[in-house]
Amino acid sequence: MARAPLFHASREAPQAIGPSKAKVDWDGLRQRMQGPLLRPGDPGFEDARKLFNPLNDDHIPAAVAQCESAEDVRQGVLAAANRVPLAARSGGHSYVGYSAPRGGLVLDLRRMATVSVQADGTAAVGAGASLRDVYSGLGRANRCLPGGSCFTVGISGVALGGGIGVLQRKFGLTCDHLVEAEVITADGRTLMASATRTPDLFWALRGGGGGNFGVVTRFTFTTDPAPPLTVFVLGFPAGKVPVTEVMTAWQPWIAGAPRELWANLNVSGGSDPSCRVAGCFVGPRSACTPLLDSLVARADVQPNRRTVEARDYFDAMRFFSGRPDRESFVASSRVLTAPTADPGGVVALLAGHSGMSLILDALGGAVADVDVQQTAFPHRTAFATAQIYATATAASEAEVTRSVGQVVKGLADLGFSGGYVNYIDPDLPDWGRSYYGPNLERLRSVAHDYDPDRVFDFAQSLSRA
Ligand SMILES: Cc1cc2nc3c(=O)[nH]c(=O)nc-3n(C[C@H](O)[C@H](O)[C@H](O)COP(=O)(O)OP(=O)(O)OC[C@H]3O[C@@H](n4cnc5c(N)ncnc54)[C@H](O)[C@@H]3O)c2cc1C
Repeated sequence: MARAPLFHASREAPQAIGPSKAKVDWDGLRQRMQGPLLRPGDPGFEDARKLFNPLNDDHIPAAVAQCESAEDVRQGVLAAANRVPLAARSGGHSYVGYSAPRGGLVLDLRRMATVSVQADGTAAVGAGASLRDVYSGLGRANRCLPGGSCFTVGISGVALGGGIGVLQRKFGLTCDHLVEAEVITADGRTLMASATRTPDLFWALRGGGGGNFGVVTRFTFTTDPAPPLTVFVLGFPAGKVPVTEVMTAWQPWIAGAPRELWANLNVSGGSDPSCRVAGCFVGPRSACTPLLDSLVARADVQPNRRTVEARDYFDAMRFFSGRPDRESFVASSRVLTAPTADPGGVVALLAGHSGMSLILDALGGAVADVDVQQTAFPHRTAFATAQIYATATAASEAEVTRSVGQVVKGLADLGFSGGYVNYIDPDLPDWGRSYYGPNLERLRSVAHDYDPDRVFDFAQSLSRA
């Protein structure tokens, strides 16, 4: 049974943290660091502190440490631990701003973004690398790693929360490729986490969520030879009936598809909901086309837009990347353990919500090859993740948050449960159990072992789950 959270994490509340025991010696830290330490008023501070979602612009840290090395990270941890809130920042896409603690120290890793492919096919990736850095570095070496879709997202957040993406049914989650991570712990130790060294930490880093356990400074991932890919988008006419028909067809189609095929279903809310199916096929266009035809035949709704293109790995990843511009949004998630029996009920939830999308990303295939408790990511046997994503402004944030909450509740009433930690939402009522399922207790214990004083505490850290 789902356990009620000890604390309700509020979107508006400042991040609570233990009492400040001593002041941080900012000048001393600045001298000890190789990279710059920026404080309010310093040139570059405003740009450095801002995250992807402008709704978090009111998160003003006391300092941003632009770390050049693991040693800079270690110096930052030692200087700020138990004094002010402390968080790593990689791509800065935390939905609610957990990588920019108010009044705290941001350990900005973006200068540590090297991607190098070794002779054995493993890739060493600096923890500040963006997905663009990863895909371009691997693409040049004709290798691939499954990962998320937006180029500006950080590899750190993606990998630590699991890492869902267009290649997951064939190659698994990003975290399934992790073989080693270098971690700076709350007490300033440098640990290597792998199957043989600190295996409990290694287990937790694969799905336990960013911001817990310590700061990862470098990842090593296994990679695969980059295959030829086919990308596609089918857009369908608006209206509750066709969208329901497409969802009704999409579910068994993707559940029964070969693992080379991945697709999502993106329903746009509004007075007349519309939808599109986008995806990626590992293989040539000629083998993908009949699979798409079979979806159209099942749905019995002709798409009014059909794009199918052969691409190499990097260009395929670029196809799915949104614009790099910052965007104000409110989002949450649920997980479908199995296809829904009521597609019409799901579509109806979006009626009237313009600016809101429901994005169902199919799981299955290689994701399900790993046992639920083999890594910290728990949604191994589920059918799909469901993201509720709504654009908002500072003025509309409260109202949009309420609307997103209504849809989340509506989905729960239709049997959707769970949630994806990378779509982190302080208003998800049962977030701890939702994100971690049966892995929650072990994760709490690992977090306590590596950060007993809750140095990395934040509103949805594991110690509060
Ligand atoms: C436009 C957009 C597209 C997205 N697409 C996908 C997708 O396709 N697939 C997917 O799985 N997710 C996706 N996400 C969600 C994304 O994975 C999460 O938001 C993730 O947490 C972002 O990581 P980041 O490094 O960019 O963010 P940050 O804000 O830098 O970090 C997120 C959290 O991780 C912590 N953290 C960061 N770096 C480290 C580190 N090195 N060590 C320890 N903790 C760290 C931070 O303190 C913070 O709590 C998307 C998000 C957005 C906004």
